[in-house]
Amino acid sequence: MSDFLDQIDDEAELGHADPFRYDKPSAVDEARIKPTIPELVAHFSRAMTRWIKKGLPVVSKKEYLRRMDICVECSGGWRCPHCGCVIRAKAALETEICPEGRWEEKIEAKQIDASAIKSKTKELYNMNVFFNAKGKPVNPMGQFSNQSVFLIMNGPSFKKTNKTILDTPGVITFGVNNGPVIYRPNVWMAVDPPYRFMSHIWEDPAIMKFTFTGHAKKKYGRQNKKKVGDCPNLFMIKQNSDFNPQAWLYEPTFNWGDSKKRHGRVCVMLPSIKICYLLGFRKIYLVGCDFFMDEENKYSFEEDRTKAAITSNMRLYTLLTTYLNRLQPYFKAAGLEIYNCNPESKLAVFPYKDIIEAISEVKLDTSVSSFGMYKKKVS
Ligand code: SF4
Repeated sequence: MSDFLDQIDDEAELGHADPFRYDKPSAVDEARIKPTIPELVAHFSRAMTRWIKKGLPVVSKKEYLRRMDICVECSGGWRCPHCGCVIRAKAALETEICPEGRWEEKIEAKQIDASAIKSKTKELYNMNVFFNAKGKPVNPMGQFSNQSVFLIMNGPSFKKTNKTILDTPGVITFGVNNGPVIYRPNVWMAVDPPYRFMSHIWEDPAIMKFTFTGHAKKKYGRQNKKKVGDCPNLFMIKQNSDFNPQAWLYEPTFNWGDSKKRHGRVCVMLPSIKICYLLGFRKIYLVGCDFFMDEENKYSFEEDRTKAAITSNMRLYTLLTTYLNRLQPYFKAAGLEIYNCNPESKLAVFPYKDIIEAISEVKLDTSVSSFGMYKKKVS
């Protein structure tokens, strides 16, 4: 590879780029470098293993310089803020990816074949995508065709949200993790080890619950030996950890981000959005979606977080933002509209919509009297 980099250095004479300008980290760049030393070592050794296994392939000079320009704009060009790898080397290896997808061609919704996404989604309706606890296929797809859903993300702003408006007839809510402790949703999802979530959520027959198939035999109660698979109103899905925005909406497994091998992170928000899409919802209003956490503002429910956990969550929000940015053109092409109801959210991928306006779009008129409804209909 050093030969390659030496060759690349000659490119500087062409005036395209001077590789040596990348040799010093900028102050901004230093501040963004987040991996710990053990993480850095792990990322480096995985990158080397991948590269050696594939036969040491390097990219063309043109591609190398294109990547470098993007990295310089992103981080100053010294180290990647996610994997910590030295960019001058990382950009040269064909086996490397940008964890934020910045090396990919930018795509607009109008460039995407919307009819292909829709027909591939329809094909899923005949495939085994959802399962019961015994592994038998069940099919809730399309149950909420063209409806809207309020997806509650448990950020601290949800503490201030007027929860009674979510009880308006016509409103369907989707909660995650321990969110039901402060607001009982209609639909819920959790992907972490089941014991982390309150037993009364798992056991609530009124909540339509989703989790990964691998959790079926796991115990959820801290005080009892009950298993996830014994819970009522339960649907199970299979996950994947290879983020691919093109196929994300219609692949038969549910992507929850990228594995650490790909310098990525995983999160419950992603499969929750995909479930909403397959259940038929075509508008998602994000509530309590802050993408920010600090010592004073953690979750909307009671839970402590260490300093390291807060830093880790902030890193997750950065990567999640890039995943959602890359998915947004595909959402648009598929007719899936997502709005963020928190005006102070750090997630700027989706347009803002006031929650009162969102509620008014879905609320049902319940003011009409039932008097006379049992009479024979007169034409
Ligand atoms: S996130 Fe992507 S663009 Fe930014 S430095 Fe890392 S590889 Fe380069």
